[in-house]
Amino acid sequence: MQDVDLVNVPGADRSVEVDDGVLLAQARDGHAEAYAALFTRYSYAAHRLARNLGQYEDAEDVVAESFARVLDLVRRGKGPETAFRAYLFTTIRHESARRAKARKRVTPTDDVAKIDQPVPFGDGQLDGFERAAIRAAYESLPPRWRTVLWHLDVDGRKPHELVSLLDLSPNGVSALVYRARNGLREAYLQQHVKSAAPEDSRSCRDVRAKLSAFVRRTASARDQEKVHGHLPVCRECMSIYLDLQEVDQEVAAPPSS
Ligand SMILES: [Zn+2]
Repeated sequence: MQDVDLVNVPGADRSVEVDDGVLLAQARDGHAEAYAALFTRYSYAAHRLARNLGQYEDAEDVVAESFARVLDLVRRGKGPETAFRAYLFTTIRHESARRAKARKRVTPTDDVAKIDQPVPFGDGQLDGFERAAIRAAYESLPPRWRTVLWHLDVDGRKPHELVSLLDLSPNGVSALVYRARNGLREAYLQQHVKSAAPEDSRSCRDVRAKLSAFVRRTASARDQEKVHGHLPVCRECMSIYLDLQEVDQEVAAPPSS
């Protein structure tokens, strides 16, 4: 597990991480109550994520299995030392995907298996949540960006073909492609914010609406300041921020055009 990049949160006192880190260290030393505290802290968000990822009735098992797996690693001196939430959530994603795959294997017909090839994404494959998140992200984009992405990614056209198609200069096309790809990635991250725990205050809501732009470093200076001010004092938003950093790193860099 990579260290999570906190460099763009000046003023963060890392107390959120230190807290989880201290609990993890205690759990590693065999203190069951320390791990129980982590369970209590992240149980709600974990269940919510698991329900978004897979079959509703599986969520309970997925969460229990994931907490148990991380605990097992921690006791053997492996697993996360910080960023417990991000590690747990990645485990939950993998466990959900594993179950979805196992379910699919039970009832395939040859034809369905052929048509329903998973789309490669990063170094893994899309699970239900990610597919839905990409679709929702795509649909949230302005029509012009959707058109560009459609031509390139679905129609398989090359950027230079868009010059005449959209009646733009080559520079205009590359700027548009760049903005559309970044827009999609940012909107995709924002879907992960939506799947997190509900915000408990107005300042949380404001900050969460800007988190994906913040992670992608496209937020305005004013918005950045707002997020900088909030993260160190809000455990839940900080957790979501750390999770987004991780998701953003998982997603392959957009191909240059
Ligand atoms: Zn908050």
